[in-house]
Amino acid sequence: MTDEHKTSLLTVRCPRCGRRAPYYGNPDRPFCSDRCRRIDLGAWADEDYRIPGPAAIDDEFADKSD
Ligand SMILES: [Zn+2]
Repeated sequence: MTDEHKTSLLTVRCPRCGRRAPYYGNPDRPFCSDRCRRIDLGAWADEDYRIPGPAAIDDEFADKSD
């Protein structure tokens, strides 16, 4: 039985760039590379945390009211 050959050919599509990447032995699965994985994670993280907050203004007010 040579299942090894079969599994080594198994690939998944990178959700970031659409390139084919190996499924097995790929630490960045399902992404094709560490770069794509980081870009994707960074993209949603950036959007998620980019809510403009009045933190800076609040800080200024607190300083003046003292
Ligand atoms: Zn990719």
